[in-house]
Amino acid sequence: MSQQHEIPNAVTPPAGPLFGLDIDDLTALMLRLGQKRYRAKQIHEALYRQRVESVEQIAVFPVALRQGMTDAGFRIGQPAIAQTARSVDGTERYLMRMADGETVETVWMPDGDGGEEPDVADEPQFETPGSSYRRATICVSSQVGCAVNCQFCLTAKLGIRRNLTAGEIVGQVAAVLNRHAVAIGKNRINLVFMGMGEPFLNYAEFIKAVRLLVTGLGIPESRMTVSTSGIEPAIRAFALEPIRPRLALSLNASNDTIREGIMPITRKWNIRKLLDAVGTIPLRTREWITFEYVLLGGINDLPEHAREVLDLLAGIRSKVNLIVWNPGPGIAYTQPSAEAVARFQKLLVHGGIPTYIRRPRGRDIYAACGQLKRTIDPAPAPPLVALSEASRSAAPAL
Ligand code: SAH
Ligand code: SF4
Repeated sequence: MSQQHEIPNAVTPPAGPLFGLDIDDLTALMLRLGQKRYRAKQIHEALYRQRVESVEQIAVFPVALRQGMTDAGFRIGQPAIAQTARSVDGTERYLMRMADGETVETVWMPDGDGGEEPDVADEPQFETPGSSYRRATICVSSQVGCAVNCQFCLTAKLGIRRNLTAGEIVGQVAAVLNRHAVAIGKNRINLVFMGMGEPFLNYAEFIKAVRLLVTGLGIPESRMTVSTSGIEPAIRAFALEPIRPRLALSLNASNDTIREGIMPITRKWNIRKLLDAVGTIPLRTREWITFEYVLLGGINDLPEHAREVLDLLAGIRSKVNLIVWNPGPGIAYTQPSAEAVARFQKLLVHGGIPTYIRRPRGRDIYAACGQLKRTIDPAPAPPLVALSEASRSAAPAL
């Protein structure tokens, strides 16, 4: 019998996580392992459609190949759910552990969060047998911590530790889908890149993750929304992407003075620059730009601010999501009054902009916007090493 399925030692590349490799990466890998090209398609299907959790589960591969890859140290390498917190409203927050011990948070919101999905009315409303949800939103992290330093955000307190790889971004989604036994196509899943981190400061891995989510997992790009604090060059690159989610811009203020105070990054790219960049995005049918606006009591929630927002957004096909600021330890802002929130919404709606108040989800478990931070620390904190080194040195298969 031919030895085709065994991995010749001489050509064994350093084994690493398979999750996150795209079809080109997998083709190169299979060829290096002395396999035929079609094996790449098979493993792609197993990783992203079937969402296998071990090399052993790649049923279409011959036993010898699975064994050979396992012996060579290959593993799927998805992040593992290390802790779960469940809110009274059904929201679940997961602490996801990466191969190098770093952790991020991912949130599952059954029934969506009321602010992200544009096309509910056209969707066939299906029932999932044996399950209490029909649709859900997963909020994904893009970095460990964040460098942007928005003054109202708890994640900012962590600083930045490192970028996540595409595999770690997609892996959060796969781990949560597996936990809830979700069948893409049957269950309606929305993704929001609104967890820890600034996706546009990790642009290459973020966009690679989007492609894997679309072509691998089968989640339509129209069901994904990426939120950015406003990284101008990345918004311009995003506008040129053939496959891209919808965009949400965290506006959060009605003029540069206020925005500089709460989002210091405004000094680098002011509101005008950001809106000009946003204007280059070719909007698809029934697509608009979402502007997020965190209301901070007495700072950006007055009628004059609402009027300034109307002026800013004139001419942009837009929607506004108002987010009542979620408090966090050590952050000295106050929440806006209910009257201020209602008044702000009314002024924008009267000005012709669809404006929604985002329901806070999972506030009791610190899963709401801006409340994500690692609740336990990896001990001891691992040194910051190159990603490939870090993931290679991780021992256990997840
Ligand atoms: N870094 C990206 C995405 C993650 S933050 C961004 O800033 O857009 C997701 C949203 O949560 C942003 O709109 C942000 O302005 C908002 N946010 C941050 N901290 C918050 C808090 N404490 N309360 C309410 N919203 C908050
Ligand atoms: Fe980073 Fe977004 Fe928090 Fe700002 S709001 S610090 S960009 S995660």
